[in-house]
Amino acid sequence: MITINDKKDCMGCHACSNICPKSCITMKSDSEGFWYPSVDYNKCIKCGVCVKVCPIINKTVVQNNPRAYACYNKNETVRLESSSGGIFTLFAEHIINNGGVVFGAVFDKSFSVVHSYVETKEGLERFRGSKYVQSKIGDTYKQAKEFLDEGTKVLFTGTPCQIGGLKSYLQKDYGNLFCIDIICHGVPSPKVWEKYISYQQNWNESTIRKIIFRSKDKGWKRYSVSVSFNNAIEYLQTFDKDLFMKAFLKNICLRPSCYKCDFKTLHRQSDITLADFWGIQNVLPDMDDDKGTSLIFVNSIIGQYMLENIKDKILYKETDINEAIFYNSSAIKSVKYNPKRENFFKEINQLSFDKLVQKYCSDNILVRIKKKLKAVVRTILKKIGLLVVVKKLLEI
Ligand SMILES: Cc1cc2nc3c(=O)[nH]c(=O)nc-3n(C[C@H](O)[C@H](O)[C@H](O)COP(=O)(O)OP(=O)(O)OC[C@H]3O[C@@H](n4cnc5c(N)ncnc54)[C@H](O)[C@@H]3O)c2cc1C
Ligand code: SF4
Ligand code: SF4
Ligand code: SF4
Repeated sequence: MITINDKKDCMGCHACSNICPKSCITMKSDSEGFWYPSVDYNKCIKCGVCVKVCPIINKTVVQNNPRAYACYNKNETVRLESSSGGIFTLFAEHIINNGGVVFGAVFDKSFSVVHSYVETKEGLERFRGSKYVQSKIGDTYKQAKEFLDEGTKVLFTGTPCQIGGLKSYLQKDYGNLFCIDIICHGVPSPKVWEKYISYQQNWNESTIRKIIFRSKDKGWKRYSVSVSFNNAIEYLQTFDKDLFMKAFLKNICLRPSCYKCDFKTLHRQSDITLADFWGIQNVLPDMDDDKGTSLIFVNSIIGQYMLENIKDKILYKETDINEAIFYNSSAIKSVKYNPKRENFFKEINQLSFDKLVQKYCSDNILVRIKKKLKAVVRTILKKIGLLVVVKKLLEI
């Protein structure tokens, strides 16, 4: 049966708990708030299928030739409600128009992030937008399999490791399955997210009505976290100032597996990969109006077919994949481990959320000066048109 010796070797994908024929694997939160399998040895029959479906133990190597596109949805309302170019919604609508079902990440009533499914276009709104917290897969692999077995078209969206978990769990190819993953920076702890929600509610003396991680009110590139409260207070703060986003982007509260992720590759198990086209202003300036441009990889024949189906609803340009990921290293590289992470989690129950983030995520004076200097040099290089050249030279 499944045993976790090193937490870095479990992404919490739920494939083992979904497959267990005796339902004796429970996914339990550890002290950092991440889920790991826990086996009830009294019920276990030692059949070994949990080990057989673990995507970390059984690595899949994909050989393909992905193509990259810059694109965005022509429907501006949907585009502005989405994190990047609003491409997810178009694929999802196509599946639903053809009698299918769409799986993805939504907020539940208490704003925890969970995987769920929808069969109507009206229901897609909850699925739109990035939620920067690990989404709980729950029983959705089992539910997707039931739909697939009865011949229903299924679009399953998630992080690359969630798609890896689904494919491992299914153990066979389905012609009616379409998978979308994302370029994934990493996923923050659900416990840190819960702490942020409580902090926000206490500070604003109200319960929360709505959360948007990627509001474009101040632009797509300087995106903001927006929180609407039931007492009519509206909170809007850019990603570099919001306390949760600070902790996320400092890599202090990510799942241990995210610091050595096996799923960061250009050869992916999904049919389509969705991402932000960071750096679009340098690569294809005419595709940038700061309302959100997607970078997509087409990884398979199904992916190419699906893209053909939505082409009349998007503006797009094919681009060189290596140039496209130049500003988006999360496509192929894991983030650096933050050495303060251990102490951050040691103090999570002692400090209030703002104190915790101030203590562990503030830049010291030297880092602040370095960042300022970097920004000045960057602006000068950009003005004289040498930014891309210098960046390329530095990469060498
Ligand atoms: C945790 C996380 C890290 C990311 N890191 C990067 C990155 O480093 N670089 C980059 O370019 N893009 C990253 N993205 C992807 C990016 O933010 C957009 O989600 C993506 O470009 C799709 O945008 P869209 O406009 O097409 O659709 P949207 O409507 O914005 O996206 C909705 C889709 O995102 C999925 N989704 C939302 N939250 C989650 C979640 N917690 N877990 C799994 N799936 C989720 C939904 O199921 C749905 O399929 C990340 C997304 C997430 C959730
Ligand atoms: S060995 Fe079989 S019964 Fe035991 S935990 Fe794994 S899947 Fe469940
Ligand atoms: S199947 Fe997924 S949740 Fe289970 S041990 Fe492997 S990585 Fe962890
Ligand atoms: S970084 Fe890797 S392990 Fe972490 S959530 Fe993303 S795909 Fe999974």
